[in-house]
Amino acid sequence: MADPQVKHIGKYKVEVIREKCISAASCAVIAPGVFELDEEQLARVISQDGNDDETKLLAAQSCPTMAIIVTDTASGKQVWPV
Ligand code: SF4
Repeated sequence: MADPQVKHIGKYKVEVIREKCISAASCAVIAPGVFELDEEQLARVISQDGNDDETKLLAAQSCPTMAIIVTDTASGKQVWPV
């Protein structure tokens, strides 16, 4: 459920398919405000608003296993992977 107190800075939503994550960490290097590696060394989303849309998309595109799905919440369409 959306928190009305949270001001969203972009329209892209990211999601990690943990089964595909191989702990390469490039997502967390490119968008450290959005992704971090947890105690299992798998990526997780810590905030949708920690970086802007462009950075989130770049982080997703950097993932060697395409474990990050990007959805445009305005249109409902998947932006990455295409
Ligand atoms: S870039 Fe992909 S494989 Fe690497 S930590 Fe992030 S989600 Fe996992």
